[in-house]
Amino acid sequence: MAVTKAKKAPTEGAPVFFIMLRNMLIGLVSTVATTLMGAAAKGDWLIMLIYLRGKDGPDKALPSFLAPSTNGTAEHSVVDEFLEGYGMKHLHLFILMGVAGSFIIYYPVGGFWHWYYYVKRRDQAHEWKCQPNKFLTKENEAHAVMMGSFNMMLGGTLSGTIACYIVNGGYSRLYFSIWDYNIAYTVLSTMFVFMLNEFTVYWSHRIMHMPVLYKKIHKWHHRYIQPTAFTASAMHPFEFLLVQCLMAAPIFIFPLYAGSYVGVLLWTYYYGMKDHSGIIGESQWPWQQDVMFHDDHHLYFHVNFGMNTKFIDMMYGTVRKKDREYSEDIFYGFGREKTETKAQ
Ligand SMILES: [Zn+2]
Ligand SMILES: [Zn+2]
Repeated sequence: MAVTKAKKAPTEGAPVFFIMLRNMLIGLVSTVATTLMGAAAKGDWLIMLIYLRGKDGPDKALPSFLAPSTNGTAEHSVVDEFLEGYGMKHLHLFILMGVAGSFIIYYPVGGFWHWYYYVKRRDQAHEWKCQPNKFLTKENEAHAVMMGSFNMMLGGTLSGTIACYIVNGGYSRLYFSIWDYNIAYTVLSTMFVFMLNEFTVYWSHRIMHMPVLYKKIHKWHHRYIQPTAFTASAMHPFEFLLVQCLMAAPIFIFPLYAGSYVGVLLWTYYYGMKDHSGIIGESQWPWQQDVMFHDDHHLYFHVNFGMNTKFIDMMYGTVRKKDREYSEDIFYGFGREKTETKAQ
């Protein structure tokens, strides 16, 4: 995010240093807030807390009333006994925490970003906005918040259920101590899960752009031609759950260090928010695309399918080309020649 506020021209080292420090702090807070908003939008913050604290025993990450214990001070209802019988003790409390926590994080952070850019700096849009002359309609803004909130409830429920399952000793292939496998395995499996996630997202997204699936399902997300952070998780609930399940799948398939998995999730959530923000942002890493890449996906529809890198699009030839024509009814990712369009 751009910071422009230096009234007194600093002539000595100290003020410059403090301005740099201040900018760094603002950058750090903004990165953390954006990542938190992304995690909340998917309802995943609870399960990540458990992964991060898992080395002390998954239940240590939680308030004592949620930890599975046998010294029954709390009263036991029929529901409690039923859930305990299935190894899902306190499922309802996990879900409540997952959903409520997501709402508590999502709205203040999202609301602040929205106010800072789309309200306060609306008339300077040409300085910061990917599509400076166009904004979402009020109707679509409200729709994005509604759909995002509904999906956040779904995500919080799913996340609360998985968190409850893990705390109650359920099966997963995650390991919590970096020494459980050798360092080379941990590094390679981290890179592998990042790439696997990229390929899964690319292909599931590209398949969603097939005419039938696009019209029935994915078009829900493409009604937002000028994306904002609130549109990142505003999609058909089926697609939302599909993406969540695909991203959770590796933890049940091969041994994976919990910290690596959380890192990949946080990375994905941060860039998911940033790429939908509509705010111009350069690529910070050699493999990462800039914000305009996914903004163009919303503007030109069937092109630029990748989320954390444009290399997969480059490999398959689905990066947008300036000399080709794209629109909502030109499917499959390659557009068509501009001359053909004019001839029709
Ligand atoms: Zn799409
Ligand atoms: Zn999108």
